[in-house]
Amino acid sequence: MQEMNLRTIFLDLFFPRFCVECGAEGGYVCAECMLFISEAEPVCPICGWEEYAGKRHATCPSRNRPEGLVSFFDHEGPIKRMLHATREDSLIEIPEELVLRGMKFLMENPERYSEFLRFLLEERTEISYVPRYKKEVRKRGFDEARVASRALACSCKKRESTLLEREGDGFRVRGRAEQVVLLEDLWIDGERAKECVETLKRNGTRYVWVLALARAIP
Ligand SMILES: [Zn+2]
Ligand SMILES: [Zn+2]
Repeated sequence: MQEMNLRTIFLDLFFPRFCVECGAEGGYVCAECMLFISEAEPVCPICGWEEYAGKRHATCPSRNRPEGLVSFFDHEGPIKRMLHATREDSLIEIPEELVLRGMKFLMENPERYSEFLRFLLEERTEISYVPRYKKEVRKRGFDEARVASRALACSCKKRESTLLEREGDGFRVRGRAEQVVLLEDLWIDGERAKECVETLKRNGTRYVWVLALARAIP
């Protein structure tokens, strides 16, 4: 803990953080701008309609599809600018910060998110991510979905696993797991994440929940 504080003091001293929204010093989103961040309403990952806990509807197609989708925030206002700054200014701390804030929000809503949280914490559940293109990773110096998956793994004392890699415009498996929580930074229509889920399930994975830092509002 003390080490963590020293690191924070060091970082604040030499790499001060500024609010992406108003420019105030102290963090990537200041307390006032935080008020404009909205938590995402859970939806079914297949049809995009409301679902209390983000589970796939029993009536929606199930074959090689995700069991559920949890998104932390709506992709608007400060969140939109934070994800933009992550990509354009290579701010590796932003996905970490969003995971910590997002997990806090899930923990505060246990009745809604208990099924996802239980799945996440099960021993056989592995934490992985939707990989970016190699040239994007080279340009930025990191893969933001991977950074988010590491932060999540660290917060629940697990290891992050690289289960997929890019192959042309698609994906191929690099590792196997029975159950997976798959990190994605932004869910727009979910095509990229759904393709990853299909690839995993064709290769032996049984259950996958997708966790997105933000979801675009249709
Ligand atoms: Zn601000
Ligand atoms: Zn549905």
